[in-house]
Amino acid sequence: MGVIREEDGRLPEVIQPHSLHEAWERKTAFGDSSRYVAGGTLLRTGWENGTDHMPKQLIDLRQITNLGDITLTEFHLSLGALVPLSQCRSNEHLQAVAPALQEAARCIAAPSVRNLATLGGNIASGFGDILPALLVYDAELISFDGKFMTALPLIEWLNNHWSGIKPAADLVAEIRISPTRLESPLMDRLEIFRKVGRREAFTPSLVTVAISASIDEELRFREVRIAAGGGSGRPQRLSRAEVMLEGVRYTEELLASLYEGVENSFETYSDPFASELYKKKTAGNLVVSELWKAMNIRS
Ligand SMILES: Cc1cc2nc3c(=O)[nH]c(=O)nc-3n(C[C@H](O)[C@H](O)[C@H](O)COP(=O)(O)OP(=O)(O)OC[C@H]3O[C@@H](n4cnc5c(N)ncnc54)[C@H](O)[C@@H]3O)c2cc1C
Repeated sequence: MGVIREEDGRLPEVIQPHSLHEAWERKTAFGDSSRYVAGGTLLRTGWENGTDHMPKQLIDLRQITNLGDITLTEFHLSLGALVPLSQCRSNEHLQAVAPALQEAARCIAAPSVRNLATLGGNIASGFGDILPALLVYDAELISFDGKFMTALPLIEWLNNHWSGIKPAADLVAEIRISPTRLESPLMDRLEIFRKVGRREAFTPSLVTVAISASIDEELRFREVRIAAGGGSGRPQRLSRAEVMLEGVRYTEELLASLYEGVENSFETYSDPFASELYKKKTAGNLVVSELWKAMNIRS
């Protein structure tokens, strides 16, 4: 990386706290003139393309201990905020518990960026490609508010983030996912993540979709979760589309109404590269084609 300078030509002051509490105190004291930084890959992109400004102080989170591990207990898979995306790609616990999340990490940027980029930075942005995959696992986010570690369903944390009611000094500390337990050994799992960008690889997303569901022996869908996001849009669960599949037996006839359900419920936006309508249609096509492929193998 080259030298980073503030707008008036000065280098930002870099502060390296050793605990969440110290980081939170520094952020609270400096206020809006400071930013947290983890891998710095998203911040740097914003500085370079002029969508973000250089802060006076950078609060570097990487010296904080115990935020860099992936652990699996009887109750949940725990992912620390400082876990690099490169580690997510190869971790066996992630492969076992949340393969769609692992696939999302595989689809982000290039190896050199993924070695620096963290899970926490991707989540804290509020629009990272990891988020739709986390939504289909009903992930829980643990954040630190200066006094307490608070656990909140990710979907609620995202609502707060997008409504602007999340305090700026709050820190993302950990993500938890409960492993899915199948009701019967005859049941199967469907876990999918797909990204469409402007090119085949190494490209920012236009649309991302994630799907998770259990499938019983009669090919009925259970515990259906569908989420979509992409670009700098709001990651969201597509509840109307989920209801269309829940408890229903798979047939190809189902796919046409599901396509409409996804297209109508996905709230997105136009940007210089793709219209809102194109993104809605793309989300519909991705969900339907991925489901068709997955169910064709099983039927
Ligand atoms: C070439 C390139 C390609 C990319 N492609 C993609 C892509 O396909 N998909 C994608 O999603 N992203 C992409 N990115 C963006 C970025 O690499 C990822 O989103 C990454 O995961 C961000 O993590 P980071 O640690 O670098 O975040 P940083 O840049 O350090 O921080 C990002 C934001 O999160 C805040 N923050 C960081 N950690 C915390 C924390 N623990 N608590 C609270 N706030 C925090 C920072 O203040 C900042 O606002 C790309 C970037 C580059 C350079």
